[in-house]
Amino acid sequence: MIKTIGVIGAGQMGNGIAHVCALAGYDVVLQDINTQQLDKALETIQGNMNRQIARGKISEADSAAALARIRTANAITAFKDTDFIVEAATENEGLKKKIFAELCPVLKPEALLATNTSSISVTRLASSTDRPEKFMGMHFMNPVPVMQLVELIRGIATEEETFRQVRELTVRLGKTPANSEDFPAFIVNRILLPMINEAIYTLYEGVGSVEAIDTAMKLGANHPMGPLQLADFIGLDTCLSIMQVLYEGLADSKYRPCPLLVKYVEAGWLGRKTNRGFYDYRGEHPTPTR
Ligand code: NAD
Repeated sequence: MIKTIGVIGAGQMGNGIAHVCALAGYDVVLQDINTQQLDKALETIQGNMNRQIARGKISEADSAAALARIRTANAITAFKDTDFIVEAATENEGLKKKIFAELCPVLKPEALLATNTSSISVTRLASSTDRPEKFMGMHFMNPVPVMQLVELIRGIATEEETFRQVRELTVRLGKTPANSEDFPAFIVNRILLPMINEAIYTLYEGVGSVEAIDTAMKLGANHPMGPLQLADFIGLDTCLSIMQVLYEGLADSKYRPCPLLVKYVEAGWLGRKTNRGFYDYRGEHPTPTR
């Protein structure tokens, strides 16, 4: 039985996962090596819950009780009593493996472990833990409190009982699971990221401006948001990491990351989280940067 949930990484995804778990009644430990990120995460959760209250989706009492269930921590030892841990740190395989190496000796032997990776092999990440049979992919969508889907990915060693418990948790969080095999970027990002990368090529080659490309895809393909706006939401560093995993994992030149995406990441223009990406968010309204 999962009662306490640990979340590693308090970025865009980590704060959203903590938000939905706490609202569903679980005790949550939210951990990040960066204290400022933890403070920012609590502010974001409070702000997002206020929006849910204003829309009549939750009550003030629900929000207060959920916030009281979230504890923050810097040290990984905070997970010693948690039943289930979901890792949502930066999309970097080496970093994730280092986290698991530090984490596993701290955990209860029966604790289950999941990764929210957008693209990295679940089997490979599992092999860096002491419990590949209790490990799987649990891929939430951004923003977590709003998006309905969670992709569930078994590694080669994932036990049926692990899968069953994580599936049940997904449903208890009010989400809809979809199963994906353990292939680079799974289902959603295998399809979505090449489209975003192509939109960036379209910009790079001068076929259209940021505004033209986003307007064209919103009104011409009926997408709720343009691909460049969406890239800013996801985070351009995350987009680049996913394209690199696709490029290397499937060994096909069609997944080559656009050089303009690489340049934006090198500039530290990572999208909404740094206030600048394909749009500049520092003014009253987002303005295109190209
Ligand atoms: P983010 O950059 O917003 O947050 C990453 C967080 O990880 C930061 O707060 C950072 O301080 C923290 N971190 C780094 N090293 C750490 C360590 N050693 N221990 C603890 N915390 C550490 O990134 P994000 O968008 O929240 O993405 C996190 C994960 O979720 C990635 O694997 C990403 O691929 C995945 N994901 C992202 C999206 C998206 O749309 N952004 C969607 C689904 C899944």
